[in-house]
Amino acid sequence: MDSCIFCKIANGEIPSNTIYEDDKFRVILDNGPATKGHALVLPKEHYANLFEMPQDLLADAAVVAKKVASNIKDKLSCDGLNLVQNNGETAGQTVMHFHLHIIPRYENDGQHILWTPTSPSAEELVEVKNTIVGA
Ligand code: AMP
Ligand code: ZN
Repeated sequence: MDSCIFCKIANGEIPSNTIYEDDKFRVILDNGPATKGHALVLPKEHYANLFEMPQDLLADAAVVAKKVASNIKDKLSCDGLNLVQNNGETAGQTVMHFHLHIIPRYENDGQHILWTPTSPSAEELVEVKNTIVGA
């Protein structure tokens, strides 16, 4: 993907604040961080989103995320940590190259990576379940 900025960053063509690298991934600091230490796991090959990611690479991404998150937790002493992964503009994805956000959380950090719960009826939940599992 010639025009993809995360391809260029992941493959070292554009400099970044790299905090981890192996043959398949580069993990960089987000340049518009939600909190101190906000990082992005970037595969070196281009896949637009979760649905395009090969199974094995996705599993590897989770392992890299755990490794890097553990290091961040140790070094920055965060109180909690969110893993976030957006797919599609509606879900907030702005760069169409798969990436996993590692967002360290600190008490009173002012961030709100939460949703507002809704109150579907029991029947509505069953209907959704049946739609998904095909019952
Ligand atoms: P998303 O909204 O899930 O697509 O996340 C894209 C993230 O990439 C945002 O948090 C941006 O701040 C971050 N970002 C965009 N361009 C760069 C860049 N050149 N270097 C580091 N982070 C970037
Ligand atoms: Zn790309």
